[in-house]
Amino acid sequence: MFDPSTPPFIAGAAALAAGASCAYYATYAVRSQWLGATDWRGRRDTHAAALTFDDGPSEDTERVLDVLDRLNLRAAFFMIGSRVERLPRVARMVAERGHEIGNHSYSHPIYLYRTGRETRRQLERAQAVIEEVTGVRPRLARPPCGVRTPAYFATARRLGLRTVQWDVAGFDWTRRRAPEIARAVLGGARAGSIILLHDGDSDGRRDRRETVAALPLIVEGLRGRSLVVAPLSELLADEPGEGK
Ligand SMILES: [Zn+2]
Repeated sequence: MFDPSTPPFIAGAAALAAGASCAYYATYAVRSQWLGATDWRGRRDTHAAALTFDDGPSEDTERVLDVLDRLNLRAAFFMIGSRVERLPRVARMVAERGHEIGNHSYSHPIYLYRTGRETRRQLERAQAVIEEVTGVRPRLARPPCGVRTPAYFATARRLGLRTVQWDVAGFDWTRRRAPEIARAVLGGARAGSIILLHDGDSDGRRDRRETVAALPLIVEGLRGRSLVVAPLSELLADEPGEGK
């Protein structure tokens, strides 16, 4: 039974089978400030949006990096610790090319279904692996599928991690072609937007060819609206959660 004081979005999410797809959570309550300060958009008084990539590093990350280099852009990569262990060279490359790196857990569990102890270990282990491999200690975190819990926030705070969600998604975790991904992003992007894309696949099933192909279309479309791409940390307000 759920405690009646449990926030409704937690109860609703918990009622689903643990195997429910990320797509459900990703569109659900990602902006909630209920359990802790969360940035889901950046400052609106800019002419910029930020690109963020989840679930890497993967075999496709280098292609994402090449496109970003060609367009002279800096993005943020929320990495899975176990993937960093598997592809340390790629993880290092992300750091060396000047991108930000965030903590996206060690093995991509939905924290809602994990004990507080497991959640802590997930965040701590990812933090340690990322720092050891890349030399960068993440300051930003994004929980898998955007699902946050009290244990998540307690650990994130202790590790000095700021929680960053998104306000615009390319839905590139579904079977979409590049123009559709770009259309989804451009349909919602505005000043201060934090754009969610993927350079890896948490299920390891899909490649990121379409995301790579969508990037120039997204950047060109943003430019058409007089928006540039800025590094995520430059776009965030001084205080966490101010964007709400
Ligand atoms: Zn993810």
